[in-house]
Amino acid sequence: MKKLLIKSFALVAFSLFLTGCGEKENTASTVAEKAKSFEWKLVTSWPKNFPGLGMGPEKFAQYVDEMSGGRLTVKVYGSGELVPGFEVFDAVSQGTAQMGHSGAYYWKGKMPAAPIFSAIPFGMTATEFNAWLHYGGGLVLWQELYQPFGVVPMAGGNSGAQFAGWFKKEINSIEDLKGLKMRIPGLGGEVLKRAGAIPVTLTGGEIFSSLQSGAIDASEWVGPYNDLAFGFHQVAEYYYSSVWHETGTTLEFLVNEKALKALPKDLQKIVEIAARAVNEDMLDEYNARNNNALKDLVEKHQVKLRQFPPEVMKALKGYSEEVIAEQAQNDESFAKIWSSYSEFLQSMREYNDLTLKEYYKNR
Ligand code: CA
Repeated sequence: MKKLLIKSFALVAFSLFLTGCGEKENTASTVAEKAKSFEWKLVTSWPKNFPGLGMGPEKFAQYVDEMSGGRLTVKVYGSGELVPGFEVFDAVSQGTAQMGHSGAYYWKGKMPAAPIFSAIPFGMTATEFNAWLHYGGGLVLWQELYQPFGVVPMAGGNSGAQFAGWFKKEINSIEDLKGLKMRIPGLGGEVLKRAGAIPVTLTGGEIFSSLQSGAIDASEWVGPYNDLAFGFHQVAEYYYSSVWHETGTTLEFLVNEKALKALPKDLQKIVEIAARAVNEDMLDEYNARNNNALKDLVEKHQVKLRQFPPEVMKALKGYSEEVIAEQAQNDESFAKIWSSYSEFLQSMREYNDLTLKEYYKNR
């Protein structure tokens, strides 16, 4: 009995000794890890400090610096400072920069399914999209799509529902869209083409002068808060608030997979949580500022606020369904992601019809 006790005591002592050693080593490596600091570059598709969209990466850098106590610092580059705005994805994939901030629809040429993760005509609202992404399997599909490029995507801000845009003449029927030269990117442009319009791709900075010179007849941008800052009311009379082509546009943070994995676990978490915070923060800011900006546009600047007639909305929806069905037919990834997205959208539609749709009418 005594022998047995001594034996088991020795065993416990020995295993405690082993555990102790392991702990010491762990502590030592954690201390070494925490002493290490990282400096990252973040390239964007926007001019430096661009209101709204461009403030996302600036806030991200600030949050990360503060939460990590300066162990991870992120330097933000405007479009063209390190790489051109449309090369952000490649720069992150190749490791020229550890991070990027952009919009997934810019990578449509590389991955036809990418636009689903930024904006798709008659798609989900911001709240619905965030629910699908974080609790409906969307983020996993997004990660799968970018995985072959060594890029990890994270939602990086949401503009909420965008306005149909600025028009030099009223749109009273689908006929009025025929021959109309409009700046509108992505799948929305494809849809307008089917309605007989001529979609044009221009960067944000080119819109004002193109409307002014008459090179284009119409343009969409974001919504009242951003559009007022650009002064589009000086060059187009009619502002259409109809929501159809960008119903809850999501921006993205791109992270180089190797660089992310090289960070200690706590810094990896800080990157993830800071991105999540920026995603929500941007939506909050747009929601807070859009209405006041719209009041300014209508009351101070006498902008003529309009809605597309139901007939035009119905036609646009029909064309959107055609465009999306074609995309799904031509690309396997698009079909797979669209199936998850559209199933979630349908369940949200049923739920929101019973709840918010009714409430909006009654409050
Ligand atoms: Ca837009």
